[in-house]
Amino acid sequence: MIGAVDIGGTKIAVGIVDDSGKVLSRMEAPTDPNRYSDGIELIAHMLRKTAQRAGVGLSGIGIGSTGPVDPLRGEFGDVDFLPGWRGKSPVRDLAASFNLRVALENDGDAAALAEAGWGAGRNRTRLIYVTIGTGIGGGIVLDGQLYRGVDGAHPEVGHHVIDPAGPECSCGFRGCWEALAAGPAMVAWLESHAPAAYLHRPGITAKKICELAQQGDEVALQAVEHEAYYLGLGLANLISLFTPDAIVLGGSVMKSAPLFLDRIRAVIRQGCRFVPAEKAELALASLGEDTNLIGAARVWHHRFGGIASQGPQ
Ligand SMILES: [Zn+2]
Repeated sequence: MIGAVDIGGTKIAVGIVDDSGKVLSRMEAPTDPNRYSDGIELIAHMLRKTAQRAGVGLSGIGIGSTGPVDPLRGEFGDVDFLPGWRGKSPVRDLAASFNLRVALENDGDAAALAEAGWGAGRNRTRLIYVTIGTGIGGGIVLDGQLYRGVDGAHPEVGHHVIDPAGPECSCGFRGCWEALAAGPAMVAWLESHAPAAYLHRPGITAKKICELAQQGDEVALQAVEHEAYYLGLGLANLISLFTPDAIVLGGSVMKSAPLFLDRIRAVIRQGCRFVPAEKAELALASLGEDTNLIGAARVWHHRFGGIASQGPQ
């Protein structure tokens, strides 16, 4: 039984995950961006409480966290929205409190490991996980091992440039995949292209656009078409660069995947002629709302459980 900790910018989820990836109990609380010591105490409390509720003892703790983390040193990096957490080591602190081995990864990498091990990416040798929500992130798993960059760095699949004349991105470029195809980009497109009299404009969200498109709303269908085109371009780039067996798609926008998939596949077919793109399966994430939490547990198995050396389960 692994204690799993999913640290996001606004909330922390903690749960107990068994050796088949099932969540036995869970709790969550808001993240305090400034006071790390309170945060780590709260995490320890939630770990004890969820273990007690599940009636189990813990054999390790896995953490998936938003923002830059140093997975090998077990420290938070320059997490701008959690200023008080910078440079702190939840790995060292939780290991000391619980006398257990603790592993930390970026949450995109954690979710990729979960889908590769327990989800839609099982038995896939070369897997890319992509989450499309308020941003675009993900992780790459090759032969059951997480792909790492220099010094353990996490590659940012959402920040390859698709249109240098596109909207500004937080990374410094314009027209990144994230800036063009994450949920807010679909909202921005609709807000600037819908007719002035469009009734649904005030307070529209990506989720609402998908609902309206399902009901046949013409403006929402155009926004979906535009979104699917840019999703397709980014996925085509990943296929050209990595020729994966599978790309697993998760995140809130992909809850409406049937609206987008045909157009995405058509875009991929249009290009990608020099690689076996038809062999890159587009699969939908299968672990649901708790993917990141389950991923945090998988982080522990990947680091200490011998999974990496065995390949995909
Ligand atoms: Zn960017």
